[in-house]
This record gives sequence, C-alpha cells and structure tokens, in this order.
Amino acid sequence: MFIKQNYINGHWVETKDVMSVINPATKERIGEVSNSGTAEATLAVEAASQAFVPWSKKTANDRSQFLYQWHQLIKEHTDELAQIMTIEQGKPLKEALAEVQYANDYVLWYAEEAKRNYGDTIPASSVNKHIIVKKEPVGVVAAITPWNFPAAMITRKLAPALAAGCTVVIKPSEETPFTALKLIQLAERANFPKGVLNIVTGNAKQIGDVWLQDKRVRKLTFTGSTPVGKLLMRKASDTVKKLSLELGGHAPFIVMKNADIEKAVEGAIQSKFRNAGQACVATNRFYVHEDIMERFTDRLIEQVSRLSIGNGLNNNVDIGPLINEAAITKVMDHIEDAVKKGASILTGGKRTMEKKGYFIQPTVIGNVTDDMLCMQDETFGPLAPITSFKTIDEVVDRANNSAFGLAAYVFTNNMNEAALFMNNLEYGVVGVNDGLPSTAQAPFGGYKESGLGREGGYFGIEEYLELKYISIGSFIQN
Ligand code: ADP
Repeated sequence: MFIKQNYINGHWVETKDVMSVINPATKERIGEVSNSGTAEATLAVEAASQAFVPWSKKTANDRSQFLYQWHQLIKEHTDELAQIMTIEQGKPLKEALAEVQYANDYVLWYAEEAKRNYGDTIPASSVNKHIIVKKEPVGVVAAITPWNFPAAMITRKLAPALAAGCTVVIKPSEETPFTALKLIQLAERANFPKGVLNIVTGNAKQIGDVWLQDKRVRKLTFTGSTPVGKLLMRKASDTVKKLSLELGGHAPFIVMKNADIEKAVEGAIQSKFRNAGQACVATNRFYVHEDIMERFTDRLIEQVSRLSIGNGLNNNVDIGPLINEAAITKVMDHIEDAVKKGASILTGGKRTMEKKGYFIQPTVIGNVTDDMLCMQDETFGPLAPITSFKTIDEVVDRANNSAFGLAAYVFTNNMNEAALFMNNLEYGVVGVNDGLPSTAQAPFGGYKESGLGREGGYFGIEEYLELKYISIGSFIQN
C-alpha cells in the first residue's frame, strides 16, 4: 500500500537515506520514504528533459489516451488512495474519497482538453501576409505540492501539464508523500513513457534549488505558503521561469440580513470545517449583519458542537487531526490572542486527545475585532471568529482589507446585493450562496499575494503553453 521509492526515468529507485512519515491521528510512524537531495533531483530533471521532445511531438489524441487510462486506474483505486490519504493526512475518509474523485475530475477534464489546444489565425494588415498563432508546451515543469490536498494538488498540476505536452518532475510534501507516490504508480501502469513523470521525495530546499537553478526547467507550479512561494519566485527569476503560484488565503464569509440562515450555516460548516479548516480557500473570518448576528451565531454553535472529532478512519468522524504540532500551536495562538483582546469562546477552544494525535476542538468565538490575529493572518485550523457589520460598503471594505485575495463567500437573497459583491470583492474565487465552489472546469487562483495564474478549466492548460506567433510573407513566385 505504501510505496517508498522515487520514480525517475521509468524506474523505482531507492536511496540509502530515508525519512519517516507520521499519522497525525495517532502520532505513529506509518512508514518511510526516500530522503533525496541534489543528486536525485538532478537525475529527475535529466529524465524529464530527455523525454520532453518525444512526448511533446506525440499527437494530442495520444496524450489524451494516456490521461484517460490514468483516470480509469485512479477510479479503480479510489478506496485505496483515500485510505492512504486519511492515514497520512488525517482528513475523514468521506472527505478523502471526495478528494480522490475531485482530483480525478482534473485528469478527465484535461484528457478531453488535450485535444482542444487550438491556435488562431489573425487578419494581417497587408494583403500578402498571414498571421498564425500556435501553442506549444513550455518544456519541463517542476511541481511542488503541499500536504492539505495530497491528491488534488498533484493532478491539478500534472494533468494540464501532460495534456499540453510538458514532462514533469514532482516533489510532494514530506508530510504526505504516499498519496503522491501511489498516483505516480498508477500513471506508470497507464504506460506513460519513461521520463514523462518523475517524482522525488526528500529535502525540500535541496530539491527545489536544483530545479529552480536548472535552465531546462521552464516552469514552476507551486502550491503552499506565501513565504515559501515568494522565496521560490525570487529564485525562479534567475532563469526567468514561467510561474504558477497558489498561495495563502484569508477568506471572508459575509452573511447579509436577508440570507437564508440555514443555507448560510451549511455553507459556513463546509467552507470553515472541511479538512479541519486546513484549506487555502477555508473561511477565516465571518462578517454577519448585526440584525441577524444572534440567530446565525446560535445556529452555527449548535451545528459546530455536533461535529464529531476523531481518527478519520472511524465512521462518522467530521473533524480529523491537524497535520502536526506547529499547526496546533498556530490555532491556539490565534485563540489566545483573541481572548486576550476581548473575544469570548462560544464553543470549543481546547486541544483534545493530546496523547493520541494533533486534535483541536472545532471552535467558534464572538466579540471579535479586526485587530485580532485571526482577522489578519491565515489560521489554517477549525477556528471560526464572528464579527458584525452594519452596511454593505463597510463589509466590502473590511473584506478587501487584506494582502490575500483567494476566496470569498457571500450569503444573500438579494440579487442587487449579490451583484455588488460580485463586482467589488477583490478575490479570485467568489462563492455566492455557495460554500464549496472548487470544481475542475472552473479557474482556481488568487488576486494579490494569494498567487499567480489559474488552475482548472480551459484556463488551466494555458499556464503550460507558450504562444508562437508566425508571420508569413509571400513566397517567391516562379
Ligand atoms: P505548508 O505550510 O503547506 O507545508 P510550505 O510552503 O511550507 O507550506 O510547503 C509547501 C511545499 O513546499 C512542500 O512540498 C514543501 O516541502 C515545499 N517547500 C518548503 N520550503 C521549500 C524550499 N525552500 N524550496 C522548495 N520547496 C520548499
């Protein structure tokens, strides 16, 4: 079930040095993977570089077929992938199953999109000229992914890259390598030619540095924290690589006076407590109209106190563990800071089952003010701070007052209000009466410091393509 080797140039290769992977629900060691560095990262780039020309010259239909086969194999191994994911990442099994399906939606989408890599012809400004625009793959792509969505973050990058004709080197998070390795094993079974996909686990800095310095790597696609994203962006500048960055978020969740409270609470639970709040699109701060503050808060507390915490492998668990001790410390710091500044804990607020794993109670806090840490910084945990507002202009200003701009949520039954939010929220993803907007056919990505580029839909493949403009003058007439 757990694969431990790197996959480079069509071979599973072991390293002497290994590193342990921990189950965050039990703190038990579940296995080990290669602790690779410079040497393995270099071999991976060499393999991807050699495989690039033959892969990029295949027909789009051929590349599509490989992706269809991979999709089929992922489908057949959904249960196993979900089990692996829950064991290494902690999310409840039902969420892991949903993620595998969501991840596989990208593979299917880009199996289809591979065939629609259309160019353009443009009317020229002189009679004897022709303008053609064609799209070509950028080259070798380096993908560096996080632990919170161990399958989807891989396929969302690899599927469009492979469809476009790129080859890839991947470094998954050291916390969740097993889901990634299993996905690559399934790609191997789908018969992708050797060198087209290569995966290396281990020392993030060493591997990253090799890939960022190597001229043959023409694109970096990264999902992770904003500080690491900024660091990689600086390093990528030396060789002017194309970049896609999906970084942090700080999503506001706005509930208007006329909103359907039940729907809003349902959306709040989905957007705040999925994956125990460990998502870059997770709601970080709630703004509720003062007239319905009490009704909304009471109903939210009622629902949150019903959420059951535990090992994600057990039936009916809603909230699994956080990923590690540092994640717990961050959430506890946000709660302590808020309480010190006058907030009150309405439900939860404590660490729990400490000896077993990294668990924290789903928490709602009231009397929240904008100067609290949780209203400014990404919490990445199950903490819901609620504050009230009076006017729509005020709430738009407060929602936009952030360096981040990934996701925002609005609940209202008034179309004019909805339109105002749609037009004025500075966010890449806006959920109107929808707490779960992510889907394979839509462009996912952020404004401001939340990142660069978009993943998903027909937009996502463009990130892996160069435009080549060809101007054709007249040929000599005989
Ligand atoms: P998170 O808090 O989600 O773990 P990180 O940004 O630390 O966010 O990690 C996201 C990914 O970036 C992981 O695969 C991690 O190993 C990798 N990473 C972290 N630091 C570096 C680095 N200096 N160079 C390359 N990759 C890195």
